[in-house]
Amino acid sequence: MRSIRRGDTGPAVSEIRSILTVLELLSDPEPDLFDEHLENAVRAFQQSRGLGVDGMVGDETWRALDGARWRLGSRTLFHSVPDALTGEDVRALQERLLEMGYDTGRPDSVYGARTAHAVAQFQREVGLTPDGSCGPQTMKALRRLGRKVVGGRPQWLREAEAFRQSGPNLVGKTIVIDPGHGGGEDAGVVVPDGPLRWTEADLVFDLAARLEGRLAAAGMRVHLTRGPSPAEPMSGTERAALANTLGADLLISLHLDGQNSPAAEGVATYHYGTGSGSSSTVGERLANLVQREIVVRTGMHDCRTHAKTWDLLRLTRMPTVRVDLGYLTSPVDRERLINPMFREQIVEAILAAVQRMYFPVERDVPTGSIDVRQLRMALADRA
Ligand SMILES: [Zn+2]
Repeated sequence: MRSIRRGDTGPAVSEIRSILTVLELLSDPEPDLFDEHLENAVRAFQQSRGLGVDGMVGDETWRALDGARWRLGSRTLFHSVPDALTGEDVRALQERLLEMGYDTGRPDSVYGARTAHAVAQFQREVGLTPDGSCGPQTMKALRRLGRKVVGGRPQWLREAEAFRQSGPNLVGKTIVIDPGHGGGEDAGVVVPDGPLRWTEADLVFDLAARLEGRLAAAGMRVHLTRGPSPAEPMSGTERAALANTLGADLLISLHLDGQNSPAAEGVATYHYGTGSGSSSTVGERLANLVQREIVVRTGMHDCRTHAKTWDLLRLTRMPTVRVDLGYLTSPVDRERLINPMFREQIVEAILAAVQRMYFPVERDVPTGSIDVRQLRMALADRA
C-alpha cells in the first residue's frame, strides 16, 4: 500500500489517530487529518516498537499499529488457520510462557501451532482443558502463576545452545544471503551520478554474489534470496519464509542507507530484539561481530548495532542480522562503495565474522586478525 503521511485525510487517518490516542501517544483523536501532531505520535510509536522511524504509516507500521490495539486478556487467543492471530497481546503471552519455561519458539507476536502447543501444555499442568486457546480461565491461571516464576529468557538460551551444538565447522552449514530490494520499482536508495545511476539494489546484489562465492569456497551451502533483477519485489515476510523453509543456520541481509543530509555516513548492524529487553543472544553476537569486523577492516564510521523488530528479523527462526553498509547519499561512503576492491574488503569482514560465530568463545580471536584466505586450512587444523 502507499504510505499514509502528512496531509492525508480519510477513514485510515481516523483509525490511526484513534489507536495512537488509546496508546496515549496522542491527546486528541480529532480531527480527521494527518497533521504535525499525528506525525510526531507516529514517530514516537515507531521508536518505541523498534521500527524504522519516518513518521509515515506504511505496511509494517500499519501492522504494528494494528497489533498494538490488543492488550493481553482483552480478547480470546487461539490458533487460527490459515490466517494466524497476531498482535502485541500474543507477544506478551509468548514472553510470559517463555519466562515460565514453556517453549513457544521465538516471541514473534504470531499465534502459531507452537504457541498453541505451549498453551495446551500449560493448561494441562494447571488442570484446565488443554485446548490450546487462551481465554479468561487460562488468563486467570497465568495471572496467578506468572509472578512466582523467575525470568531467564529460556528461549534465547535454547537458541544459543542449539547453535553451540552445531559445532565449529563451516562445512555443511546453510547460510542465506539476502540482498535487499530488487524487483519492479524497488531499487532501494538511488543516487544519480552524471549519466550513471547508483542503486542500492544493484550494489548489494554485487556484494551478495561475491559473498556467495567466498562462503561456498569455505564449504558452506549458500542461498541468495533473489537474483540480479527479479520480476517482483519481495517482502521481509517472504524472505524470512524462504530462509525458514531452507532450514538455514544463519541469515545476513545486506542494505545501504540513504538520507537527505550528505553528512550521514557509516555502517550499522541490526538484530532481533524488542523494547522490553528481550533480545536474540546469538543474533546480537553475530551483529556485534559483523559490525566490529567491518569497522576495523574498512575504517567506515561506526553507527553501532541496534535491536529492531522488522519482519525479516522477527519471523526468521535462525540468527539473523541486517547490515546497512554505508550511506549511498554520502559522497565519502559512495566513493568507497563503487570501488570493487572496497566491496571485497567488506566481503572479507563478513566472512571473518561468520567464521568467528562458530569458534567456541574460549577460542575467539581479536577483531581483524583472521586471514580469510587461510580459512579452509585453519578449519582443517581445528576440526
Ligand atoms: Zn535498503
